[in-house]
Amino acid sequence: DTIGRSLDRVIGAYPQREALVDVPSGRRWTYAEFGADVDRLARALLARGVAKGDRVGIWAVNCPEWVLVQYATARIGAIMVNINPAYRAHEVEYVLNQAGVTLLVASRAHRTSDYRAIVDEVRGNCPALRSVHYIGDDSWDELVSSAESPAESPAGSTGADEPTAGHTVDHMADLAAELVAREAQLSCDDPVNIQYTSGTTGFPKGATLSHHNILNNGYFVGEMIGYTEQDRVCLPVPFYHCFGMVMGNLGATSHGACIVIPAPSFDPAATLRAVQQERCTSLYGVPTMFIAELNLPDFATYDLSSLRTGIMAGSPCPVEVMKRVVSEMNMAEVSICYGMTETSPVSTQTRRDDDLERRTGTVGRVLPHVEVKVVDPVSGVTLPRGASGELCTRGYSVMLGYWNEPEKTAEAIDAGRWMHTGDLAVIREDGYVQIVGRIKDMIIRGGENVYPREIEEFLYGHPKVADVQVVGVPDERYGEEILACVIARDPADPPTLGELTAFCREQLAHYKIPRRLEILDAYPMTVSGKVRKVELRRRFGGAG
Ligand code: ATP
Ligand code: MG
Repeated sequence: DTIGRSLDRVIGAYPQREALVDVPSGRRWTYAEFGADVDRLARALLARGVAKGDRVGIWAVNCPEWVLVQYATARIGAIMVNINPAYRAHEVEYVLNQAGVTLLVASRAHRTSDYRAIVDEVRGNCPALRSVHYIGDDSWDELVSSAESPAESPAGSTGADEPTAGHTVDHMADLAAELVAREAQLSCDDPVNIQYTSGTTGFPKGATLSHHNILNNGYFVGEMIGYTEQDRVCLPVPFYHCFGMVMGNLGATSHGACIVIPAPSFDPAATLRAVQQERCTSLYGVPTMFIAELNLPDFATYDLSSLRTGIMAGSPCPVEVMKRVVSEMNMAEVSICYGMTETSPVSTQTRRDDDLERRTGTVGRVLPHVEVKVVDPVSGVTLPRGASGELCTRGYSVMLGYWNEPEKTAEAIDAGRWMHTGDLAVIREDGYVQIVGRIKDMIIRGGENVYPREIEEFLYGHPKVADVQVVGVPDERYGEEILACVIARDPADPPTLGELTAFCREQLAHYKIPRRLEILDAYPMTVSGKVRKVELRRRFGGAG
């Protein structure tokens, strides 16, 4: 169904249950209140002349308004364009123009980013962009109240904005009727969202997703972890990314559960405080987020007894980290998901009763109504269970395509509607999937294929290693050489290359042993929390 109609059913079933809590500001919404604010914003967007299929951009850190925009745009058949809050001027300009955004909602400023200054800088180069509204200032209030004001005032009231052409409705009743009429026109196969990929391996691509794609995916992910209206889901992951907005927001609301926002952007202490204060039952994160939480000096002082589950996803989840999450964070049912933006995102997930081996050694098995297969990356021939090759996904979750990039779409989705993921995987005999690595990250050293993941898993076991990333760097003799980039547990006593080599020698084949070591304080990250290995390779790859 459409996201709006699905939300209506949940509001009808649980009007008085909490839907959304913003811990930093202390604001909270029941489902009835949330629905009312979504409708108000939806009517306001109609009053502003946002037509079906128009692109509405959201360039903001996590906050309740982000979620309101998500549901209000879905309700009126607009296409919300998620813009990464870490983008700088040229990237924002690219996305605004690539997607043809006409109305933009943005944060004012956060940490080192002055969003308003950047918008002012690029606006002249974005001819489609008609109006910009900053969350928490007058231009947001003016947007939200457009539905209540007479037709003359709203469009002119945001200063530089031009009046909206063809704007005729000037009564709340007319807008309410228009909203009903608009929703009746919508189909679940209409595009509702353009989500840009993380940009881990290159420049982000805009995946166009329908109501059907993401609503179902959020719903099934929630089903697999057994969400009910009793659950409270703590989301330190960015909303701009599918992890936050689909697995988080849609996963929670499609089951009547509550979204808890711990902070505008990831903050490990604020996250654990929010879990404790709001008695959250579920916590999401990419592995590096869980590592940061577990490594807080005062970790032991937080009461995490309300937790039962959560999701770890986005990049390989080290076994050691997983064990600590289960035993020290009380998340016995924590789920591992694997997916990508282009597939709404989740394709495989562990189940509630999976044992630790499956929970730590695999990314689960395929979700209902989705298919996976492994093919030879060169010949495209389907491989048997147990063999490693490129993972492909098919089903309701595969995106409509990359926005305005038919060639890239054709490269990713083949004639049989299989999405080629670019990930190397094995489907085991028991149907559980293991991710071996990314095709682009595979190291070829002296003709031997080396998977960084295997070496990383091993090095996590070294007592002086807090976090490790392994990449291939150019080498004259072997083509590529193996570099370990380590964050030390104790910065005053980092491991030496000799110590790591000795540690590896007992257990790893000689060609897998890192020959170079760099000790780092932090990794270059995407905002969705993934290590940008491309950047590590560039930084330490020397002349090559
Ligand atoms: P880009 O496509 O722009 O380079 P990206 O692929 O990182 O960036 P996303 O769509 O956010 O963008 O991430 C999907 C990728 O994340 C998958 O293709 C896979 O490589 C990785 N991934 C997701 N979940 C897991 C997991 N559980 N284990 C290992 N890798 C994972
Ligand atoms: Mg990708």
